[in-house]
Amino acid sequence: MLSERVQNARESITLKLNATAEELRREGKTIYNLTAGQLPFPPESQLIDEISKQLPKLASFQYSPVPGFPELRKKATAYVEKTRGIRWEEGRFDCVISTGAKQSIFNLVASIVDPGDEVIVLAPYWVSYPEIIRYWGGQCVVVGPSQDVGKDIKVQSIKEAITPKTKAILLNTPGNPSGVYYSQQWVHEFAELIVSYPQIQILSDEIYSQLYYDGPGPRFPYQFRPELLDRTFIIDGISKSMACTGLRIGFSFGPKKTMKAMSTIQGQSTSGANSLIQKALMNYNFSDIENYLDPIKDHLRNNSALVREKLDQYSLSKAWYQTNGAFYFLMSFEGLPILERFKKSGSKGKDGDYAADICEGLIEETGVVMVPSSDFGQTNGGRISLVLEKKALAEALDLAFGYLSST
Ligand code: PLP
Repeated sequence: MLSERVQNARESITLKLNATAEELRREGKTIYNLTAGQLPFPPESQLIDEISKQLPKLASFQYSPVPGFPELRKKATAYVEKTRGIRWEEGRFDCVISTGAKQSIFNLVASIVDPGDEVIVLAPYWVSYPEIIRYWGGQCVVVGPSQDVGKDIKVQSIKEAITPKTKAILLNTPGNPSGVYYSQQWVHEFAELIVSYPQIQILSDEIYSQLYYDGPGPRFPYQFRPELLDRTFIIDGISKSMACTGLRIGFSFGPKKTMKAMSTIQGQSTSGANSLIQKALMNYNFSDIENYLDPIKDHLRNNSALVREKLDQYSLSKAWYQTNGAFYFLMSFEGLPILERFKKSGSKGKDGDYAADICEGLIEETGVVMVPSSDFGQTNGGRISLVLEKKALAEALDLAFGYLSST
């Protein structure tokens, strides 16, 4: 008999679509996969060298301390302090290294959320947030998406969602799936709001913080109100900005007591993260990330421009996110011929949301795989990953947009 907790867990629609795509590929159909949540490039050669150097050492194959090697925790802390322009007070804050940022978030929610506590999540959101919150018995309170397609949620709407039960709020900037970071003015306003609610903790998922390619770059609430550091938890890792999704290293930073609790949970579940990779990272120069990302940012900027050009070409343009970060482009199907077609065809949809049906039709007819926005708390849209090589992306967009504009 399955536990109630597991029975309530939902499988992502993306996994189902990827299975359909795989089946079609086996039948010989060309598949363009626009669902990738990782950079298709090798990590920086320096990092690969450091990993090779650790291979012959016995300690690389043995347990690491549960919260991670102290040298790496110190180094990761210094890196975050430098890149965010902050200084954590000596002795009051700590860092825990986990098996990927997802585990960091999982342990963090476990450490601060009691059953019945409310956690505010801003839509469109990363798929795993509501699942992790629910897993630990929390109530996920979704705010947004904005009625004004492609615009940030109003800070006033967040204020209206706060209740005495609100324990935390999750912020992800630059965001997955929106592909944008909140403006400086928005983050400042947000910081001013949260300062006046001392019971609310901020879970700041900054896994894409270095991945921005237009504008001044993301800002974070504690940069406007440093006192918020006392109740902010920063999540980062090597998956996105170092192109190391498979090496599974995530970092969390925050007040010591909570970090200790996270370490306790980790000690009773997965133990310390991968020793070999931690040791390699200890010798890697984190400031090389910036140079490594330069050409990647050009690639993402060009691909984002290509999506907009193609939307224009197929007369699908409308107000939507002007992408400037992470590696996604979220598009809306609202008002597009395809949506009308699905509504009229008697397709089931789900509460007026046809995103999954449209994305399924898209795979079957064109071989292009897009993630339906329903998984992100947004109806009738799809997420395009910008990481594909330009020529393949152009081919995929021609097929996809041809389908989406067909009447
Ligand atoms: N947070 C966001 C917003 C993500 O998009 C992802 C991965 O897709 C993660 C966290 C998890 O990262 P990791 O692969 O390090 O577990």
